[in-house]
Amino acid sequence: MKKFLSLLLAVSMIASLLAACGGSADPVAKNKAEASTDKYRSFYQVWIGSFCDSNNDQTGDLPGLISKLDYINDGDPNAGDDLGADGIWLSPMMPSKSYHKYNVRDYFEIDPDFGTLEDFDKLIEECHKRGIRVIIDLVLNHSGDDHEFFKKACDELSKGKEDGYARYYNISKESNDRYNRAISGTDYYYEGPFSPDMPDWNLSFEGTRQYFDKVTKFWLDKGVDGFRLDAVKYFEDAKTDADEFLSWFYKMAQGYNPGVYVVGEDWDDAGNIYDMYESGIDSLFNFKFANSGGDFLVASHSMTSDALKKLKKYDDNIKKRNDKAINANFLTNHDMVRLHNMLEENDYKMAAALYMLAPGNSFTYYGEEIGIEAPNTTNDASYRTAMIWDNENLPDIYVPGVAGVEKNALGGVEQQLKDEHSLLSTYRKLIKLRLQNPEIARGNIEEVPDFGNPGIGGMIINHNGSRVMVIHNTTDEAKELTLDQITNPALRGWTYGDLAAEPNKETPKLSGTALTLPARTSVVLKEVK
Ligand code: CA
Ligand code: CA
Repeated sequence: MKKFLSLLLAVSMIASLLAACGGSADPVAKNKAEASTDKYRSFYQVWIGSFCDSNNDQTGDLPGLISKLDYINDGDPNAGDDLGADGIWLSPMMPSKSYHKYNVRDYFEIDPDFGTLEDFDKLIEECHKRGIRVIIDLVLNHSGDDHEFFKKACDELSKGKEDGYARYYNISKESNDRYNRAISGTDYYYEGPFSPDMPDWNLSFEGTRQYFDKVTKFWLDKGVDGFRLDAVKYFEDAKTDADEFLSWFYKMAQGYNPGVYVVGEDWDDAGNIYDMYESGIDSLFNFKFANSGGDFLVASHSMTSDALKKLKKYDDNIKKRNDKAINANFLTNHDMVRLHNMLEENDYKMAAALYMLAPGNSFTYYGEEIGIEAPNTTNDASYRTAMIWDNENLPDIYVPGVAGVEKNALGGVEQQLKDEHSLLSTYRKLIKLRLQNPEIARGNIEEVPDFGNPGIGGMIINHNGSRVMVIHNTTDEAKELTLDQITNPALRGWTYGDLAAEPNKETPKLSGTALTLPARTSVVLKEVK
């Protein structure tokens, strides 16, 4: 046995010597990362019910999530085999009769499926210990129809009383496109654009705002660091100006925690998103670049330079509306088919590099980093299947309409951690690059240089005079580039774009300002003064 061990040791020493003599050493491995202390973060979106189940009832829960925090971030940005994400967006966890929990019954509790308020306290404590900030999904557009206020409103309306709880909701005696749901046993209708069990709050009523003030204070007192606001586009109605409501919300929340981070979901075109930045909230998700057909996905195999020009325009525009705006880049979320279903496999890592090496915060939907596929491309719930920790030991998690848990084609976390070329290893490296080069998230896109090839896109990102350059070669050929846009470039690291990139693939080579960029490779350079 001893003999075998020393042989193994000798073999591994020779292997590491060979690796050191081979291609240029990977700068990411030796550069130090600084933990973020501000709002610029690499977020990880956790769908709690599918993440990790601690008590074998087929539903993921908060204790399960706590048990997996070391996977998300172990607290040391320079060590460990964690993903390195330093922010978590928690899907809705308040009591609700639906599995998705976007129809809230009680804004001051944890759904018993997920645990207790004590579990939540523990989660916050453990996240903060690791430097992870936590934002929670807050649904202010509508409540569940079993919310105490809505039940009271219906009861009062059945007796003709309009000036009580009915004021909290958008109620009318007229039935039309907006007041589209009848209240049984009355002559009244309510607004419920999503479904009958989601009545819209009256956001102009002072009482509603006082109630939301209490809700916000409650969760900030619990230690949450911010909010993901659901469906902000629907805040706009005949009585309410969405921007005005968002401004009110943000100032109110800042009154309790001046560093609160707020990101809104406005699933709309860029013009409407620009307008909403005028509310002053930190971020709105960049839907234009996400999803199938979005600019990041297009740029992963063609038109790369063009997409980065559009990204500069987008980033400039949001900062014109709000000079503290933080772009919120992502590829998919719980409402979209899994990335693995919509991409050619070989574009996957390229798409990841495109959104994670861009200014702003990145939001990675759980499972995206291991390439989970949706078993059914037309059923929302199938975009939210179980996280696969180990392909050899599948979890027993129930998702409505989905039959059983399948192995992940690319391997579970266990399998991918052992492979330095796996998709997961690339995501880990991208987060390291973001931490090691804080200019990327915080800077402005100063220039999108023209490399004379639409498949090569680059950005010079300037943060208070410190400049980095990110270049993506999405073509199938290595390219020689002269970097005369920055002086004294230093290579900070790279990732390969193809899922099946060979372990012995060429590494980028830099000599002075001459860069040889291999095919299907993204690279980060920094100007050394
Ligand atoms: Ca459970
Ligand atoms: Ca770590």
